[in-house]
Amino acid sequence: MAKVRETVLQLDLKALAHNYHYLRAKLRPGTKFLCVVKAFAYGSDTQIIAQELEKLGADYFAVAYTNEGVALRDAGITKPILVLHPQEVSFDTIIERCLEPSIYAKHILDGFIKTAKKHGQKDYPAHLKFNTGLNRLGFQYEDITHIATVMKKATAIKALSVFSHLAASEDHSEREFTANQISRFHTITEELDKLLSYRPFRHLLNTSGIMNYPEAQYDMVRSGIALYGYGNETKFDKQLKPVANLKTIISQIHHLKPNETVGYNRGFSSEHPKVTATLPLGHADGIGRHYGNGKTFVSVHGKKAPIIGNVCMDMIMIDVTGIDCVEGDEVLIFGKELSAQEFAETGNTISYELLTGISQRVKRMVIS
Ligand SMILES: *Cc1c(COP(=O)(O)O)cnc(C)c1O
Repeated sequence: MAKVRETVLQLDLKALAHNYHYLRAKLRPGTKFLCVVKAFAYGSDTQIIAQELEKLGADYFAVAYTNEGVALRDAGITKPILVLHPQEVSFDTIIERCLEPSIYAKHILDGFIKTAKKHGQKDYPAHLKFNTGLNRLGFQYEDITHIATVMKKATAIKALSVFSHLAASEDHSEREFTANQISRFHTITEELDKLLSYRPFRHLLNTSGIMNYPEAQYDMVRSGIALYGYGNETKFDKQLKPVANLKTIISQIHHLKPNETVGYNRGFSSEHPKVTATLPLGHADGIGRHYGNGKTFVSVHGKKAPIIGNVCMDMIMIDVTGIDCVEGDEVLIFGKELSAQEFAETGNTISYELLTGISQRVKRMVIS
C-alpha cells in the first residue's frame, strides 16, 4: 500500500466488493438489492462507489435528495435511482434526469402528479412511502383509500413500489416493536394491492433489518452502512470490511517540559515530560471537538495515541510519548485496524455520523 503524504481517505474497493457479496448471499435469489449511496456514499465518494456497485450488480440506488441523484446520473449510473426525500422544487429535475421519487405526503403526491402531467408522462415510476412507527416520513395507514383513489385516476404516474423503514432493526430489545412494524407493513401492502388492483413491489429492510429479520425481505432490501463495512453489531462487523481508511501524517513533533500546555484554551497540560505530534486534520475535516481531550485515540505504527487538548479547525495534537515515530510518519485515524464504529463511540456517536462527516476537503483515493 502506497505511503500517504497528506490527509487522505483511502477507499478500498475490494472491501466494498466483499461487503456487497456478503449481503447478497443473505438474500433470496429473487430479492433485488438497492444500494444506499446518499451523503457522498456515506462520506466516501459518490461516483467511485456507485460505479463500482453498478459493476458488482446493484439493482437499484437510493439517495436522500435530488441533487445527489443528479450526481449519480452525471457519473453515468444507468440503474434506477430512488430519491428518498425529494422536495417539490426539484420535481422537474427528477423527471428530466430519470430519477424516481419517494411519495411520502399528500402534497408530494399531488405536486408530483402535476409535474409528471406537465412533462407528458405516462405511468412515471413513483414509490409510496408509509409510516409504520418511525414517525419520520410517510403516509399513514388511514391514507390508503385516498392514495388508491388518486393513483387510479392519475395516468401520469404509477406506484412502482410500496415501502417503509424500520425504527430499531439493530436493537434486540425492540424485537416486539419491529415485529409490529413488519405486520403493519404487511397489512398496508395487502390492502393497497386490492384497492389498486395491481401489485407494486415491496421493500422494508435496511442493513440491520437484513441481518436480523431476513423473513421480511419482500422484493427488495436497502442497505447502506454494511456496504461501507459496518454492521451495527460486533458479530456482523467481523464479517464486513471497512471501505474508508482515514490516514494522515505527522506534521511536527514537540517535546514538552512538565507543566506546559497544548492547544487552544490550554486544553491539555503536561504533568510530566511529554512528546506530542501535530496532525493536519481537524474539525473542518470531520473530526469534531467531541473527540478531543483524551477520550479518543488514533493509531501510530499500531500503537494507541490519544487526541489531547481541544480539536482545532485544521489540526489535532496527539500524545506519542513512548511511541517510536518521526515527522512525516503515517497515522491511521480510522479504518481497517481501528474501526470507525469504535472511534465514533468514544465521541458518543455512531459510525454513520463519523463517516458522513468527513468533509469534502479530504482527498479521496482508491486503493487496491
Ligand atoms: C439511509 C436509509 C437506509 C439505509 O440504512 P442503513 O442502516 O445504512 O442500511 C435505508 N432506507 C432508508 C429509508 C434510509 O433513509
